[in-house]
Amino acid sequence: MRYCKRCVLPDTKPGVVIDESGICSVCRTVEAKKTIDWQRRDLQLREICNSIKGRNGHGYDCIVPVSGGKDSIYQVHAMKNIYGLRVLAVNISAHIHTVEGILNLNSMIENLDVDFIKVAVRPSTHRKIRKMALIKVGNPNFAEHRIVFSAVARAALFYNVPLVVWGEDIAVEFGGNVDKKSEPGSAEDMINNDLFREIGFEELIGDEINQNELFFYKNPEKSLVKKANIKSIYLGHYHWWDGTKNYEVAKKYGFIPRKEGPLSGNYIDYDNIDERLCEIHLWFKFIKLGFWRPTDHVCYKIWNGYMEREEAVEIVNKLQYDFPTEYFQDFLDFHDLKEDEFWDIAEKWRNKEIFHKVNNEWRLKNELR
Ligand SMILES: [Zn+2]
Repeated sequence: MRYCKRCVLPDTKPGVVIDESGICSVCRTVEAKKTIDWQRRDLQLREICNSIKGRNGHGYDCIVPVSGGKDSIYQVHAMKNIYGLRVLAVNISAHIHTVEGILNLNSMIENLDVDFIKVAVRPSTHRKIRKMALIKVGNPNFAEHRIVFSAVARAALFYNVPLVVWGEDIAVEFGGNVDKKSEPGSAEDMINNDLFREIGFEELIGDEINQNELFFYKNPEKSLVKKANIKSIYLGHYHWWDGTKNYEVAKKYGFIPRKEGPLSGNYIDYDNIDERLCEIHLWFKFIKLGFWRPTDHVCYKIWNGYMEREEAVEIVNKLQYDFPTEYFQDFLDFHDLKEDEFWDIAEKWRNKEIFHKVNNEWRLKNELR
């Protein structure tokens, strides 16, 4: 496990490579992004918007998938107010909401004045799939990622919406090469999106769940999506993506941070705060890959020029061993687990290549310096 000399990202992150100079591929991507003509990219997006505007009669021009988080509020703001599209906001419901998550979604609908639909899958099926993903791959949120893409594709088809606007293109951010992705992407990318999966969905489910329960987990027929000519783009391809700035925009539309301040292990109090099952999911990243929320938070600050590495190292070392206790009981209850059952499952996923025991506590063999 090595760390980037410029940010603090380790090379255990899938897709990240550290070069001979000790700089990671994301930092190199950030360098490359500085050479992009963003005005030109903005014009390209305007062209796309003009080409689809009104194509759907009196219906919607675009779908923005929204969690109610700061980035999705920025996406709705951009597509509606900057590019003048008729936006349908589509939300995949959180299973255990936070108060802030509910308030932020309501503020977004009210203050950005958009139509909104919510897809909420039945809890019993979701519980089964989450537990399966937790035990089999140590990735409890596996199913959420799946629903986001397939349910949004289904909504686009159902409402004849010609454009879907996602936020940041994670494949570009972490895959390394910004030039590779000079094309804006297609709906097929949307339904092929299988980033960082340990296992295919069908393989995970096997025949343990009745197919009739899986409508929103299953992608629509590729041929239908192709025929409908739905474009799927990442706003991050056209706008420099800066979560701190998105936060400032979101606040103008009533977005509030977590009332009680940052969760355990978190540095900021306004990222991913809409639901309660995600924290433990993210913490699994720590035992598998040796980093989680604090590293993610400070890396974004470094990449966007808000923080020096020295400060980031201090923050990560102070926070990363904290366990997200706040929503632990919710997590246990939702998955019908006892605490010792949880720890038995979790410790199976501990990566012993990067962790060892010091005074009977798990520590990284190579601490961040
Ligand atoms: Zn880096």
